[in-house]
Amino acid sequence: MSSATLTPQKSVASTLSPHAVSRLRQARLARSTRPFLARGGPKGERCEGCRLRPSHCMCALRPELATRAAFCLLMHDAEPLKPSNTGWLIADVVQDTHAFGWSRTELDPQLEALLADPQWQPYVVFPGEYAEPAERVLETLDGGDSRALQPGRRPLFILLDATWSEARKMFRKSPYLDGFPVLSLHPDLISRYQLRRSKRDDHFCTSEVAALCLELVGDAGDVQAGQVLESYLGVFTERYLQAKHQQPVDEASSAHQRLRELMGAVPAKRDA
Ligand SMILES: [Zn+2]
Repeated sequence: MSSATLTPQKSVASTLSPHAVSRLRQARLARSTRPFLARGGPKGERCEGCRLRPSHCMCALRPELATRAAFCLLMHDAEPLKPSNTGWLIADVVQDTHAFGWSRTELDPQLEALLADPQWQPYVVFPGEYAEPAERVLETLDGGDSRALQPGRRPLFILLDATWSEARKMFRKSPYLDGFPVLSLHPDLISRYQLRRSKRDDHFCTSEVAALCLELVGDAGDVQAGQVLESYLGVFTERYLQAKHQQPVDEASSAHQRLRELMGAVPAKRDA
């Protein structure tokens, strides 16, 4: 473990370079013919860096960690515009996060190049019951065959960032994903996770699925990044709701404490 970073290196949104989801959001905004009004109405001013109200901005907490795993988010049309989208949080935490708008008919050349790059081992993360043939489905990355994560390669987790019904359609209608194994999160992993989260329902948001993927990689840094992502979501959710209910930020809350503890234990950023 190298030197701990208790204090964030950057503290204002304007000094953060926009990540993949942020760039996708800008591109999507530029394409729309009418302004997208996030819930909260036209007066709901939001920070460009974290999408929270400026009074609840958490840009100073953005972790940006180097991990073995990378993420490729395929985002349904309006997803990058939603202030509650949690794919954004993955890009905040995991340095190697790529994001593309999903299209049924077109394959973005950059996405095609990413999927073909031999440094990556792509996995489509999706419930196995929807995959055909069933042999495509894996529940871990350490199975004995060629689909297992190879030493020297890095896993690229492809996440469909959409509502559940949109995601099913995207899964069925993306022929360029058909050749990749489907990583289906094992029920044991899911129930272990459910025990430690405060919300008691079966719906996992995209960043929760990403945290579980990082846990599966098994490398210490990735497991830790998964924990950071999980607690970062906790802080985001807390601040999002506080802003909505016009309550002040509680820096001493257990969610903030947990994130600070975890950030104190991770090695410093690669470029720090
Ligand atoms: Zn912010």
